[in-house]
Amino acid sequence: MEKPKKLRAALLSSPGVGHLVPVIELGKRLVADHGFEVTVFVLSSRASHAEAEIIESAMTPKLLDVVELPSPDLSGTGLGPDAAVVTRLTVMMREARPAFRSVIAAMEVQPDVLIVDLFGTEHLCTGDELGIPKYVYVPSNAWFLALFIYSPTLDKEVKGEYVDLTKQLEIPGCKPVRPEDVVDPMLDRSDQQYHEYVRMAGEIPMGDGILLNVWEDLQAETLTALRNEEFLGRIANCPVYTIGPLTRPVRPAGLGTELLEWLDKQPSESVLFVSFGSGGTMSAEQLIELAWGLELSQQRFVWVLRKPTVKSLDGSFFDAGKGGVGDEVLSFLPSGFTERTHNIGFIIPSWAPQMEILSHPSVGGFLSHCGWNSTLESIVNGVPMVAWPLYAEQRLNATLLTEEIGVAVRPKELPSKKIVGREEIKKLVRMVMVEKEGHALRDRVKDLKSSAEKAMAKGGSSYESLCKMKEDCQMRIRHIKKAH
Ligand code: UDP
Repeated sequence: MEKPKKLRAALLSSPGVGHLVPVIELGKRLVADHGFEVTVFVLSSRASHAEAEIIESAMTPKLLDVVELPSPDLSGTGLGPDAAVVTRLTVMMREARPAFRSVIAAMEVQPDVLIVDLFGTEHLCTGDELGIPKYVYVPSNAWFLALFIYSPTLDKEVKGEYVDLTKQLEIPGCKPVRPEDVVDPMLDRSDQQYHEYVRMAGEIPMGDGILLNVWEDLQAETLTALRNEEFLGRIANCPVYTIGPLTRPVRPAGLGTELLEWLDKQPSESVLFVSFGSGGTMSAEQLIELAWGLELSQQRFVWVLRKPTVKSLDGSFFDAGKGGVGDEVLSFLPSGFTERTHNIGFIIPSWAPQMEILSHPSVGGFLSHCGWNSTLESIVNGVPMVAWPLYAEQRLNATLLTEEIGVAVRPKELPSKKIVGREEIKKLVRMVMVEKEGHALRDRVKDLKSSAEKAMAKGGSSYESLCKMKEDCQMRIRHIKKAH
């Protein structure tokens, strides 16, 4: 009997490590567990060593094809050097449309389904042109998605800046959002990135479904709200598929000899991992307080140290690729810090094998900027967190982790607003690593770890959700064929 033809999926990732990682992991999952053939299209300049590394690692073992789209010519777009992150991403994605179309047209076998990430909603019409189903992958959590989808409504109903509101933003059926927790593009309604953000939110329902990098048990109530009448009006015919946690696998030799030997010598769950994602940065003053806080906590640590690049507290906290390398970064530390912490601390300049570090048995805490990939990587390794939100949707994530999911503690004031002092850092680190309060976080994150494993296993909710998405896709393909 002839084997049924495999579905071929085209996945489009926007630039940036935090976007590339979950798209590639989704691609691998579709191939390994659901019998798809996958091509991931990446809008990447390869300028970032980290992106290049992620693309390389996606190829071993080679489950899918990765096609890099040429960098679009942005000269006629009016995009200035100070354009905000979301503006930059959306303009790049927009300008890449002709290239994406022609690369697809040149493919020997045309795709049966298109999946774009949240910055790629303007590419959904390519799915229509090709006459194939198309989905939007939002590699974040359900509360973020609710706020995102609800933003065109908030845009109509709320006057003035969200950050100046004296009451919380109400979203039907969801935890209200504090004005200071809104996502970066909502901080300034006069900025282009705000308009791009609201536009993207309005385009999401053009897709045939939304894929979300969470699992049902993690955010059951918010997911129920998203599937309720009040939201269904906004995302009619656009089911939400919870398919996570999709995280990078641990590479067996990923730690390298020196770090592995050091971690192997430390007691179980005694090391705090300190890292701020692919581009998290802080002021020189904050960096000194953090160093003192770590030292005063008397806890072991592995710190991915990046050169401070923020000029003031109002500056940007995302600075991909500009972190210093080598000994240069060490000069920003308090005098004598490296000598005094020689036996308990391990400093890695710029970039570290994060997933491998978090999975090491000696690691027992993560001081994190709360990027969604980092958050999931912490949870799947059963590691509680000190939440240190900086940019994008991280303030929302930090609130979710501390107030709803219960796996993190956080500073009293937002680190993007006020310098967090050494005594408070010491207290937070000790709370997670040694104090009684930390035990509850640890128990909770371990429970979530096993609930995540169940969700991803065959028959689990996330596995089944991708099966449903595949069925939906096949059904739509049949309908489209019939209609022609
Ligand atoms: N990452 C890493 N090493 C580093 C910093 C980051 O491997 O030194 C990886 C991290 O494991 C995660 C991704 O880069 O998979 C960062 O994504 P996240 O959503 O956490 O944050 P973003 O960088 O998008 O702010």
